[in-house]
Amino acid sequence: MAWNGKSKTFDPSSKEPFKVSRSKIDLFTECPRCAYLDIRLGVKRPSGPSFTLNNAVDELLKREFDIHRAKATVHPLLKSYGLDAVPFDDPRMEEWRDALRRGIGYLHAPTNLFVRGGIDDVWVNPKGELIIVDYKATSKKEGPKSEDDLYPSYKRQMEIYQWLFRKNNFKVSPIGYFVYVNGNSDAEAFDGKLEFATELIPYKGDDSWIDGAIVKLKETLMSEAIPPVGTAFGGGLCDFCTYREAAGKVLQAIHGTKKEVPKPVKVEKKKLTSHDTPLFG
Ligand code: SF4
Repeated sequence: MAWNGKSKTFDPSSKEPFKVSRSKIDLFTECPRCAYLDIRLGVKRPSGPSFTLNNAVDELLKREFDIHRAKATVHPLLKSYGLDAVPFDDPRMEEWRDALRRGIGYLHAPTNLFVRGGIDDVWVNPKGELIIVDYKATSKKEGPKSEDDLYPSYKRQMEIYQWLFRKNNFKVSPIGYFVYVNGNSDAEAFDGKLEFATELIPYKGDDSWIDGAIVKLKETLMSEAIPPVGTAFGGGLCDFCTYREAAGKVLQAIHGTKKEVPKPVKVEKKKLTSHDTPLFG
């Protein structure tokens, strides 16, 4: 688990557009408190190890679809699902795929937030509508089969990409696709290979929530009040906060017994207030 430390934080007094990735909007939707800690105060939630096998699958799928992009041919997977579409051939594809530095972006004028995200792929149908595509890799006994098996965050991810392309004046199909590959762990032996079953899962996106979420995010970032935790964890705390609270209580108890004076915390910004219950009661 890597600690990411500080990153560029939101400054309420700045007139410059502020960049937010689609994952920060998702974080805000999940837990406004964590988004505030991250974007406004520069404290990121610890991230887990990177999914290198998933990244390798993504990369290979991209190359595979790029072969069909160059030839304007329908990928056999799409043929098997009766989907008439080819990979969209546009010189900006590499830029749109660059999730870390570029991606596709849009300046949301009412908030001055520049929203950006990196896509896996875009296809185009005979009507000229773009189809947003996301690759997912997993290894489960029963792989996902329909949109009911998709995580809510995957659906929001698709909807933000569709929104971004619409805002960039593209005609976008309401149906996006997840290319879902499921590694088979039931084989007799590893034998130097892992076999995957591939499913194409359609999802009809609804981006009507996005403008409101961006406005709410901006309001939250402008405020001095730290928002409460979200409801994404059944009304409780996620594992990170649960750990932080438990560790804090133990450390406070030890400090209390030894009558140690806690070291002062360096406060860089204005004093903040919280309108919810303190985490370390
Ligand atoms: S519950 Fe705590 S650690 Fe978890 S997402 Fe919210 S603020 Fe972050």
